[in-house]
Amino acid sequence: MRRVLPFVVVFLALASPAPAQTGKRVYISVDLEGISGVNGEDQTSPGQAEYGRARKLMAEDANAAIRGAFDGGATDVLVNDSHGGQRNLLPEDLDPRARLISHSFKRHGMMEGLDESFDAIIFVGYHAKADTPRGLFAHTGSGVVRDLQINGRSVGEGGMNAALAAWYGVPVVVVTGDDVAVAQVKEDVPAVRGVVVKRAINTRASELKPLQQARREIQEAAREGVATARKGAPQRQAPYRVTVQYRNFNFPEVATAFREIELVSPDTIRFSRDTMPEAYRLIRVLYRFINPD
Ligand SMILES: [Zn+2]
Repeated sequence: MRRVLPFVVVFLALASPAPAQTGKRVYISVDLEGISGVNGEDQTSPGQAEYGRARKLMAEDANAAIRGAFDGGATDVLVNDSHGGQRNLLPEDLDPRARLISHSFKRHGMMEGLDESFDAIIFVGYHAKADTPRGLFAHTGSGVVRDLQINGRSVGEGGMNAALAAWYGVPVVVVTGDDVAVAQVKEDVPAVRGVVVKRAINTRASELKPLQQARREIQEAAREGVATARKGAPQRQAPYRVTVQYRNFNFPEVATAFREIELVSPDTIRFSRDTMPEAYRLIRVLYRFINPD
């Protein structure tokens, strides 16, 4: 037997499929509203009664994605906390193999740290865009936006982040969230693997997938998505023409302090940028950092 063994090993090595490509860098953006088990507004901000539970649930979904990424051939995983003040994930709760970007201010918000060196992107815990009937926690950026359009296309946070990913040529391979959020990201990124962790019954009630099953599905989708990820050429659609419709008249009025921002109706502004990173940075300021009070 001892003599036969080397031959058998060589044979198996030749016969087995090629190992997953190694050396992939994976970027994971983690929001909170679309996390498995998160189901109420008392879970989404620090100080609320159930916030402590929610951030633990957030880490569990993130960890499932991290495990899957490494299973799929990642050697470097960067996690970006992408919800609210962006300091929800506790580093001690996170898979120790992953690096974590925590807290704001970040000019690129939910996509801080992304560049063309990455091979795949995973969106974890995403939610539907503003004014979506039935989408749990549906909003875009903050509560003040009624609609955001980039080059004539209405997008939510997933679509906006996917546009930045496309600028760098890095494929979005997995999105997790409620069924409405997943369907919306698929409209922007048809090839993405969607993991529905809860079904929205209306804007408040939902049917939650069993947690262990949801996390298994996230891990498996991440593994497959990373293993099969193929970087393409950057997809650039300059100029980026952006329209923001607000829910009030004060924000757009304040926004016109920027010379290049045009008020097109009492609740709507418009601007244009040559690059998606520039457009992204300004969109973020326009929904998050105007405070007429
Ligand atoms: Zn969000």
